Amino acid sequence: MTTMLREQTKSNVAEFRNEPFTDFSVAANQEAMKKAIEKVRGQLGREYPLHIGAEKVTTGEWITSTNPAKPSEVIGKFAKAGKPQADQAMTKALAAFESWKKVSPQQRAEYLFKAAKVMRERKHEFSAWMILEVGKSWAEADADTAEAIDFMEYYGREMLRLSNPAPLVKLPGEDNKLSYIPLGVGLVIPPWNFPLAILVGMTTAAIVSGNSVIVKPSSETPGIAYQFAQLLEEVGLPAGVFNYLPGPGASVGDYLVSHPQIRFIAFTGSKEIGLRVNEMASKTAPGQIWIKRVVSEMGGKDSIVVDEKADLDAAADGIVASAFGFQGQKCSACSRAIIVKDVYDKVLEKVVERTKKLTVGSPEQRENNFGPVSSKQAFESILKYVEIGKKEGRLMTGGNVHETPEKGFYIEPTIIADVDPKARISLEEIFGPVLAVIKANDWEHALQVANNTEFGLTGAVYSKDQKRLEQAAEEFHVGNLYLNRKCTGAMVGAHPFGGFNMSGTDSKAGGPDYLLLFTQAKCVSAKVQ
Ligand code: NAD
Repeated sequence: MTTMLREQTKSNVAEFRNEPFTDFSVAANQEAMKKAIEKVRGQLGREYPLHIGAEKVTTGEWITSTNPAKPSEVIGKFAKAGKPQADQAMTKALAAFESWKKVSPQQRAEYLFKAAKVMRERKHEFSAWMILEVGKSWAEADADTAEAIDFMEYYGREMLRLSNPAPLVKLPGEDNKLSYIPLGVGLVIPPWNFPLAILVGMTTAAIVSGNSVIVKPSSETPGIAYQFAQLLEEVGLPAGVFNYLPGPGASVGDYLVSHPQIRFIAFTGSKEIGLRVNEMASKTAPGQIWIKRVVSEMGGKDSIVVDEKADLDAAADGIVASAFGFQGQKCSACSRAIIVKDVYDKVLEKVVERTKKLTVGSPEQRENNFGPVSSKQAFESILKYVEIGKKEGRLMTGGNVHETPEKGFYIEPTIIADVDPKARISLEEIFGPVLAVIKANDWEHALQVANNTEFGLTGAVYSKDQKRLEQAAEEFHVGNLYLNRKCTGAMVGAHPFGGFNMSGTDSKAGGPDYLLLFTQAKCVSAKVQ
């Protein structure tokens, strides 16, 4: 593509803007969401194939996805891939890479813009799948879909930016050019908790950079992932660039991670699996001719610190929103509130009071802002931590199963106060609606406690003392620090996202460095005659 054409394409693309959230207080929007839920419910229980190249493949074995608010309701049955299908997908992805890498960055970006447009047109349908498959509230599902749209719009523009010549030092008698070329076939492994946004983000970043991918969605959320597979097909993405391959992590996941022809792995999930993936990927398989690149975003144990000079109401609002949004199942969720002793009782009281006002119930109803946890396994694991928490501190509210006739996996929003900074519920990721409240002697102690875990993902500080905020900016060791606001809700383009230490490789998704992880830079230097 000539420089002129490149400039032309670029100028046709409007500046990036975050997708606005839907205002569900508007009756028409409520109607639209109800209709979308109804439509998706009409599609439940079907069987879905793998997408391997242009082929739709079934295997005779299925992953059954169910509604956590009503476990008897089957979302769908999804073909379960094994090693033979993983090999087929690898063959297709390798073949597709040879032509896809030659497609111009502008054209590749166009696929993302087109997919974003179609998703925007059908956004409530995508959200409805998440309401039913993973128990997101309307607002949380809407935010997940908006973020997915943002990722496509943002990475499309980022690829256009990267396709411009990088500024290099001019040497006499030489013409030097640096360009960002793709890596090869990548394996994308997303988690269930942002089953659309994170899947779309990692996948489209890889694709727009010129790679082909095999996507192994979480076994909890193959349904929403399938909707995205279909969308990519609908916008005409060449077959084999994207392959949809649900399957067990321990077999198909491990097999592909170790495969000599996998060039990179984009993983988001728990610390345990992330470390395993990293370790397996570091072993060189026979025939492998590269060091695999691993982008691994993992867990968190995120804290909100409140000092005696803070706006206590704002702090309590921020703690409750961050601790219990999507039932505490966000990597960025506030699972520890660290409050200096002078205002400890006051803040604790406010947090408990607000938490008691959360409306627990079916996520299909707009008025409910607190739904079930994702699965039986999560339910059991969180309840174990609730019991540990009852021994490690003072139960302030919650601590029980919330019973429903549908036997949904509901756990009450739970607050445990007076927790020791070294207690298990203070240090281990619970990934559910359990907030540990810790009393700090003073500001310095609070900051020290905030840094006492192996993680380093998000954190927030509420204070009106500018010096302390500056100190926190320097010393609170997390990838995403928020001052006087909640610690969840990162926005693409505004809050590049990723954590330190055991929270991962700090890839900064939704930021200007992200696509570099999916590319390699080639420098061509020509002697000018
Ligand atoms: P998980 O680690 O259980 O699973 C993540 C993915 O890995 C899933 O798709 C799973 O099927 C797959 N997997 C499991 N075993 C595998 C194996 N042996 N080889 C390859 N793949 C395998 O995590 P989860 O329960 O899906 O998600 C929750 C976790 O994700 C939490 O720890 C949360 O903090 C973290 N998370 C982190 C971020 C971030 O940006 N840092 C964002 C969202 C979620």
